[in-house]
Amino acid sequence: MTALDRTHDPKRKSWVEEANAADAEFPLQNLPFGVFAREGETPRGGVAIGQRIFDLGAAIAEGLFDGVALEAAQAASGPALNPLMAQGARHWTALRQRAFDLLDADGKDRDRAALLAEKLLVPMRQARMHLPARIGNYTDFFASSYHASNTGRMLRPDNPDPLLPNYRWIPIAYHGRASSVRPSGEKVRRPNGQRLPVSGSPVFGPSQSLDYELEVGVFIGLGNALGRPVPIGQAAERVFGLCLLNDWSARDVQGWEYQPLGPFLAKSFATTISPWVVTADALAPFRCPALERPEGDPNPLPYLFNERDQAEGGFSIELEVLIETGKMRASGARPHGLSRGNLRDLYWTIAQMVAHHTSNGCNLEPGDLFGTGTVSGPEPGSYGSLLELAWRGTKPVALPNGETRRFLEDGDEMIFRARAKRDGFATIGFGECRGRIEPALQA
Ligand code: MN
Repeated sequence: MTALDRTHDPKRKSWVEEANAADAEFPLQNLPFGVFAREGETPRGGVAIGQRIFDLGAAIAEGLFDGVALEAAQAASGPALNPLMAQGARHWTALRQRAFDLLDADGKDRDRAALLAEKLLVPMRQARMHLPARIGNYTDFFASSYHASNTGRMLRPDNPDPLLPNYRWIPIAYHGRASSVRPSGEKVRRPNGQRLPVSGSPVFGPSQSLDYELEVGVFIGLGNALGRPVPIGQAAERVFGLCLLNDWSARDVQGWEYQPLGPFLAKSFATTISPWVVTADALAPFRCPALERPEGDPNPLPYLFNERDQAEGGFSIELEVLIETGKMRASGARPHGLSRGNLRDLYWTIAQMVAHHTSNGCNLEPGDLFGTGTVSGPEPGSYGSLLELAWRGTKPVALPNGETRRFLEDGDEMIFRARAKRDGFATIGFGECRGRIEPALQA
């Protein structure tokens, strides 16, 4: 896994002043990759610094890159980051390090870069963010045992063990729909679907129990050839970076359709991701041990077990969910925090997801996306879905303006944020993952 280097030094500052603010999400130590365009421009790759986007194509044109970093910058300057993802960790690291040196207030090319600031930097408010990659496949896991236990308690209240028998052995997942993954800010239309009322026959119409799921997205960098599994010890280095992911879910549709083959239309109508991919390199200081398995749980099978992955395969990343209802927006109220969780609470590591996904020979490709599954922790304040917070509608969530929510209503906007913090390191953020519910089409 990534070693710590000068790019993790918390004392380094950027000549892009606002990147040095204490609450900056994109300080010099972060430098996530994304795809952006201003009105009328072709989307292209960039790097977030403060409130600006470092335009990789413009930097190439000014001759600021050479060697491996130039190859990587060229691969990243098109309309999707897949070519960069396909190059592998040596290129990702070289490009991030070179961007760091160019943006570093004490870097040796600082004067050259700062003189070109007008050409190199695009204010974020002028740009629209696009999907960072062409996503060939999207797989959504179920890696929080707290979330799995909560849903198990709701669905099987009489079962002494809320987890199904396979949960502690297999990183459970379903194949999601890549075509409906959208960047933060795009509206989400309430789906129509088939549901089974409490009494009577199934009906078709707008979902009555639309929900969000707080997840982290994982962009696969290097893939594997069909038939060639990725060993667990090599799995972490396949990961290009992380983003935030909202796996919008129609619970009523899901409850009726999911047996026996799992979620289908209940989730395929929309998935929202934050547009900046925070690299595995930037996250190196925030690695932590895998979740300690409770006494009595089995050890992972050998193909899912690796000492180093157990020691540092987790990520300590604080996650936050906020809601802004239509009424709140109209009255100028600030978004209300619904929950706070942490990615370190996952039962399965991301490397275990990669190893398991490829264990049958299935090939992953650059730009493939994983969702971790809803990230819930042990406390109710850390539950990552409304299903859990309102306990299947039985305990409506009270909002400060007197509104309540069992599930999402039209006009509700969900906002996810995340920060990685550790003493002795600069705090880095992810930007927002935001989506607002629009009314269903006439069924
Ligand atoms: Mn999910």
